[in-house]
Amino acid sequence: MLTMEEAQMLLTQKVEEIIQTEKVSLFDALGRKLAEDIIAVRDQPPFPRSPLDGYALRGEDTTGASHDTPVTLKVIGKVYAGSVYEGTVKKGEAVRLMTGAPIPDGADTVIRQEDTDLGGDTVSVYRELRPYQNYCYQGEDYQAGSILVKKGRTLHAGIITVIASLGKTEVEVFKRPRIALLSTGDEVLLPEAEWKPGKIYDTNRAYIGSRLMELQNPPVFSEHISDEGSVVAEEIRRIAPVTDLIITTGGVSVGEKDIMHEVVDILGAKQLFWKVRVKPGSPTLAFIWEGTLVLCLSGNPFGAIANFELLGRPVLYALTGQEKWKLRTQQAKLQNDFIKPAGGRRFLRGWLEDGKVYLNGKNQASGAILAMADCNCLIEITPDMAGAKAGECVQVYML
Ligand code: AMP
Ligand code: MG
Repeated sequence: MLTMEEAQMLLTQKVEEIIQTEKVSLFDALGRKLAEDIIAVRDQPPFPRSPLDGYALRGEDTTGASHDTPVTLKVIGKVYAGSVYEGTVKKGEAVRLMTGAPIPDGADTVIRQEDTDLGGDTVSVYRELRPYQNYCYQGEDYQAGSILVKKGRTLHAGIITVIASLGKTEVEVFKRPRIALLSTGDEVLLPEAEWKPGKIYDTNRAYIGSRLMELQNPPVFSEHISDEGSVVAEEIRRIAPVTDLIITTGGVSVGEKDIMHEVVDILGAKQLFWKVRVKPGSPTLAFIWEGTLVLCLSGNPFGAIANFELLGRPVLYALTGQEKWKLRTQQAKLQNDFIKPAGGRRFLRGWLEDGKVYLNGKNQASGAILAMADCNCLIEITPDMAGAKAGECVQVYML
């Protein structure tokens, strides 16, 4: 049996980072990996700009100004944000302007309206200003020609903001891995199906599909297939040419309906491994068919979930090089006891908050579902731990 790390290594060696790119609308680009350097086409701000509502004037005209000795200037015009005042401000003159408006030629500072009599045809100024006080320089944010965001970054709202400031509507990104989800099991129902005795609803595709969406990589196929080796094999044949990774759940153990072994035989596929030394979900199977990696997880809900996180995510990291897929671990102090001896390397559902991690007290069995509602991390219990005691430091894997 492989260790988790050996399985991760085998899996990630079988895929290559995607280098194909495509253009997408900027507002569909969240979470995508940038495939171009973003270069400024003009300065930002594109013109000297007023940071406040007031009057543009020449700083030297305000020498000696105070409440008791105001300086009065002639108001020669008005400019709102979005417009341009075409004239030049000369000695003894001022232009009324609002926040965001371009500072007219000749003016070198802006006095805030609170430091004036608010003005009319003339304005009385109550404060001395130095030239370039209250003045946003053209290009003080960034300059034309500079690289603003480097290729390879993952687009988040902040980067999209920077790109939007250039007026760009499209952006070149790397193609996303095409992931297919197949759940098996004759007992498994589609969400819209009416419940019948002996049946359960499909939670595996709900979890993995939601996680893929959360990480901005929705599956290209998500379907349920009956426990029929030939049908599963046929579906893999059909979708493998247009997918980079196929994740299946169910049918990997040793029972009569554990059909994934039969699927490997029918396809004549190359098996990478079967069984990983982790609980839950140890019977994980992986194979390659026509160059496409197929990762077959246990059908047990927490087995599928834990192994999607521990084995599936590293594959997505290898395919994309994006940090968001990387497993993130940290040490945390366990807040309650887990009495059962580990009996091997085990993962439990936990809730991490402020460096403390809680077992949520719900049924932790691998077939149990409710504990997922309060799970934001996996708690690792190592074989040498006799269960885990409150106060012990444990390693957690963040979801
Ligand atoms: P299997 O790995 O196919 O032997 O399934 C193990 C357990 O997980 C059984 O109790 C199945 O009923 C259950 N199971 C299998 N697939 C799913 C699924 N997609 N959603 C929820 N439970 C499942
Ligand atoms: Mg099954």
